[in-house]
Amino acid sequence: MSRYFTPTLAELEPYTPGEQPQDQQYVKLNTNESPYPPSPAVAAAITKTECENLRLYSDPACKALRETAAECFGLEPDEVMAGNGSDENLFFALRAFCDESHPLACADVTYGCYEVWCGLLHIPLHIIPLEEDFSIDPAKYYGLGETIVIANPNAPTGLALTRDQIEGILQANPDNVVIVDEAYVDFGAESCVPLIHKYDNLLVTQTFSKSRQLAGARLGLSLGSRGLIADLNRVRFSLNPYNINRLTLKAGQAALEDEAYFNDTRSRIIATRAQTAKELAARGFTMTDSRSNFLFARTDRMEGGALYRALKAKGILVRHFDRPRISDYLRVTIGTPEQMAALTAALDEILKED
Ligand SMILES: *Cc1c(COP(=O)(O)O)cnc(C)c1O
Repeated sequence: MSRYFTPTLAELEPYTPGEQPQDQQYVKLNTNESPYPPSPAVAAAITKTECENLRLYSDPACKALRETAAECFGLEPDEVMAGNGSDENLFFALRAFCDESHPLACADVTYGCYEVWCGLLHIPLHIIPLEEDFSIDPAKYYGLGETIVIANPNAPTGLALTRDQIEGILQANPDNVVIVDEAYVDFGAESCVPLIHKYDNLLVTQTFSKSRQLAGARLGLSLGSRGLIADLNRVRFSLNPYNINRLTLKAGQAALEDEAYFNDTRSRIIATRAQTAKELAARGFTMTDSRSNFLFARTDRMEGGALYRALKAKGILVRHFDRPRISDYLRVTIGTPEQMAALTAALDEILKED
């Protein structure tokens, strides 16, 4: 920290992203990307003309993308806003719906960025511990009088609430915004998008990073009532009206339009998840009932950090969080069947050596 850094942010603890090794030597199961390439329609959409058009600013309204997304999700274009990844959408939402005297409520074990953004924006955090089995008790979110964010499925546990359970939370907080972060919803949970026309306090965020193979393009959607989306646009137009670049707008639209590819790749991930869960259970691992593109697993045979390091030494990168309650666990992204076979082979060697 230089002596010029603002003292108001002296306590800021930035987020530590999963490793992104640039040599690409690893079997990379650490940041929940898709192991499959984007739909061929994406590459076809990035034409020479589109590259030449990069001299022009992108459409600040993201009109074409929003119209396609609205049709996909059964919404109106005014109920959709695009962000530079879900991270930006969630940040805009916290900026819009929380402040120094309007806290954010979230779980103790959840996506780490919520806490970081609260630090950056000086938003008090109301932490609600998960149950012993890492599940969320919806009743603990009733009548809080605070903005709420719930990752559904949750990360890194993979556990999901049902749509009915989230509806209960919405009904019990009619005067506050409930943000449902659906980064992993396409891998087996119930989306709350169908509730948007019923609850004007519901904001759903989805991302193209996990189930649509576009993590590197940086694109996410905010989905909610006209009023909430207008609020988010007020914040967006106060920071960066050209937040989505031209190529990403085209890529995202092509990815949304290729529904067959989307469905094929996510069902492959779901099938590989079931197979991997079986393989891990056979080796003595216990896991949560993950509805995501990762497994959250532990074994009594080896401590989490040690196992993470042993796997890394064998060229397999997974995620380990050195945090209370979860330091015994590894979060393992579901890759291709071949990648998962490499994982189980490495585990067999490590646990034999142990
Ligand atoms: C990956 C992830 C995000 C961020 O997604 P981007 O669109 O890549 O910014 C947000 N929330 C959760 C729970 C995630 O896992």
